[in-house]
Amino acid sequence: MNETQTDQSQSLLNGTNWLERPVPSVHVPEENKSKPTFSEPTVECPECHALVTRTAMSFNTYVCPQCDEHLAMKARDRLHWFFDQVDEELGLEFTPKDPLGFVDSKPYPKRMEEAQTKTGETEALISMQGMIEGVPMVAVAFNFEFMGGSMGTVVGDRFVQAAERALSLRQPLICFAASGGARMQEGMLSLMQMARTAAAIERLRQASVPYIVVLTNPVYGGVTASLAMLGDVHLAEPKAMIGFAGKRVIEQTVREKLDEPFQRAEYLLEHGVIDQIVHRHALRDTIYRIVSKLMNLP
Ligand SMILES: [Zn+2]
Repeated sequence: MNETQTDQSQSLLNGTNWLERPVPSVHVPEENKSKPTFSEPTVECPECHALVTRTAMSFNTYVCPQCDEHLAMKARDRLHWFFDQVDEELGLEFTPKDPLGFVDSKPYPKRMEEAQTKTGETEALISMQGMIEGVPMVAVAFNFEFMGGSMGTVVGDRFVQAAERALSLRQPLICFAASGGARMQEGMLSLMQMARTAAAIERLRQASVPYIVVLTNPVYGGVTASLAMLGDVHLAEPKAMIGFAGKRVIEQTVREKLDEPFQRAEYLLEHGVIDQIVHRHALRDTIYRIVSKLMNLP
């Protein structure tokens, strides 16, 4: 051992080495303490208010890593996540029109244009054909960001086309529902989609082609009253709100106070309206298993 090493060992023993020097404190301004800064966009969980980067949220399929809240998922993201492989997007030839020349606070075409700019989609329903684990399926998903996922003629057209494709190829049809109901700007024409979609589903039923509905938060109105409640199997995501009319409208009609959770998926499961609540991370496997059983796949 040379002289320098002996000095270092001595200073360690005496407790005067650099490891024990006081660390200079770092001043963090008060306003920065409660606001962590991220270099990439973040998403705030509506339940626990945790700030999570969009990339982390997307990797976790928009389920909050802190509290397990299921956040809204865009229809296109949903279908790309659902399929292992997308073969074709259906229904792009159906584009919205303004059959009634409807104007409320702004003209319907203007409202439609704003929704298209906001979402990057042409309508509220996206329809794709693809495969999971080698099993071909047709799936449709509602985009709630697009005018509340409301059902107008194009949504009806795309749904019926997807059902007909599923029927002709004898592939199961999966529907991820998230909608406020029928689209008031298309009046009676949007209500007619309830009957059209119901008829298309009935044709699937007669041919024994499975139709599985996944109810995501929220599903209301004419969509609940038609295609979302006509599945062979009804799955729901945790805490999804599902109903026909909203709580306030029902309370005003029946003149009674209603319990808060009465339109939640958990309450509906207890009362036999839906078949199963499935965590988003288990949804793909669950649907694959149900389809395999219903279609007698090996
Ligand atoms: Zn959370």
